[in-house]
Amino acid sequence: MTQNPQRLVVVGHGAAGLAAALSAAEQAQSLGLPIDVTVVEKSREDEAGGNTRWSPSNMRLDAPDRIDANFADDMLRACGGHGDPDYFSTLADNATATIGWLQDHGVEFVTPLYYLSAGPARIQPVGGGGAIVARLLEAAKRAGVKFIYDSPVSRLVMVEGDQVSGVEARSRDAVTMLDADAVILACGGFQGNPAMMRAHFGPGAEIIKLISPGTRFDTGDGIRVATERGASVSGDWNGMHIEPVDPRAANSAAVVLVYPYGIVVDADGRRFFDEGGGLMHETWEALARDIHFARPRNIAYAILDSRLFEIDGFERAIRSEVPPYRAPSIEALAAQIRIPAANLRQTVDAFNAAATGDPARFDASRCDGLAAADTLKPPKSNWARAIMKPPFLAYPLVGAIAYTFGGLATNARAEVLCEQGPMPGLYAAGETTGHFYRTAPNAVAVLRALVFGKIAGREAVEFLHRR
Ligand SMILES: Cc1cc2nc3c(=O)[nH]c(=O)nc-3n(C[C@H](O)[C@H](O)[C@H](O)COP(=O)(O)OP(=O)(O)OC[C@H]3O[C@@H](n4cnc5c(N)ncnc54)[C@H](O)[C@@H]3O)c2cc1C
Repeated sequence: MTQNPQRLVVVGHGAAGLAAALSAAEQAQSLGLPIDVTVVEKSREDEAGGNTRWSPSNMRLDAPDRIDANFADDMLRACGGHGDPDYFSTLADNATATIGWLQDHGVEFVTPLYYLSAGPARIQPVGGGGAIVARLLEAAKRAGVKFIYDSPVSRLVMVEGDQVSGVEARSRDAVTMLDADAVILACGGFQGNPAMMRAHFGPGAEIIKLISPGTRFDTGDGIRVATERGASVSGDWNGMHIEPVDPRAANSAAVVLVYPYGIVVDADGRRFFDEGGGLMHETWEALARDIHFARPRNIAYAILDSRLFEIDGFERAIRSEVPPYRAPSIEALAAQIRIPAANLRQTVDAFNAAATGDPARFDASRCDGLAAADTLKPPKSNWARAIMKPPFLAYPLVGAIAYTFGGLATNARAEVLCEQGPMPGLYAAGETTGHFYRTAPNAVAVLRALVFGKIAGREAVEFLHRR
């Protein structure tokens, strides 16, 4: 062990980076090690926090101190069998302790009312992801962590082939070299990088709307700088979490999640998917992706009637600040949203003719089995009530991306892996790492950023201790 303080650089100021920095500072203190921990952040200080700051940060736990016994198996199922069992069991094993650690640092948790539909139990920090960023930042500052803003990391510096020795950060007018004995990459996915989006998802992906103001900073830099040095990758490079939002809205994440209770039509006025194919969080990703990549003008419309307002708590499922289009007739509604009136009339008539089940069975909070007759194509498997009570309503919907799945390969100690095994002194957590396949496991992204960020900080300090 050297006498001079060793240096740990953490790249990124979201849930993963702040958890890593604070946990490293605490671990160094408990071991009596002089280690300088510095967080390097791309954005200005007043914009920092990445996706986390704008995220409601629902987490799939039964309670702050209780996780479902099947959590890891559920994750592997969501990943279609491609997930790493060690990664997900480590996540499950460390989840409640990590939440307890956040509580110790002043983050309070509640059980949220999750939009309208049921599903797995979830907890949520009071104040959402913004509270996580604020509390971890305060605690990290108190623990002596230093912060450098406005400095996007652009390169990893290595010595002896595979040993990390620093990072290069390029601000608007300077290139700065920061020496480091270990580095933790926690700088998001690549959703904010149009060239990477197009390369991995094909033409049109580069113009997907970004769901929050913090999403644009995540441009795949951590993935790039590590793969340039031989790091392996994991996760589904054709996977992204994308949600249907109202394009007229100015607010962040203006989701419209009442579409299961009506029908969804394209710009020609035709239905194209089973709006009742599952609970909202089981269909939103596929719907939003389909709208962006397969529908004319990358737009669709949720068509409902005034019975929407009779659904208890319907407002929770609409985060757009713009009211819906409303009209006394289907034809007048079609005129407002500029889709062919005859087509919309025909679509609604066909749907209504098939929606013959007993409307008393309607229950927005669960799959109610109120299916349309099987002559309807595409089918509607739940919540099939005729659209008949004016005023008629329409919400425009476009896809907005939250994060990508493809990222760095890491192990249960958050070490970045290359073909030969762990890369000495290099760690990663959160969206910068892969691990998700097929569909985003609901309410897990923030939890995994926190759990593996905390592990990365502790492990990086243990690595420096052993040197
Ligand atoms: C609107 C919205 C709703 C969501 N809802 C949920 C939810 O309910 N539950 C859930 O689990 N997940 C949710 N998510 C996803 C979840 O919030 C994120 O996946 C998670 O917060 C990511 O944390 P992170 O630390 O990996 O990345 P981020 O929070 O994005 O942080 C990355 C940081 O790295 C910085 N950075 C990027 N490049 C560089 C660079 N080159 N140099 C230095 N710094 C860099 C960025 O500026 C940013 O500060 C939601 C996301 C959004 C946007």
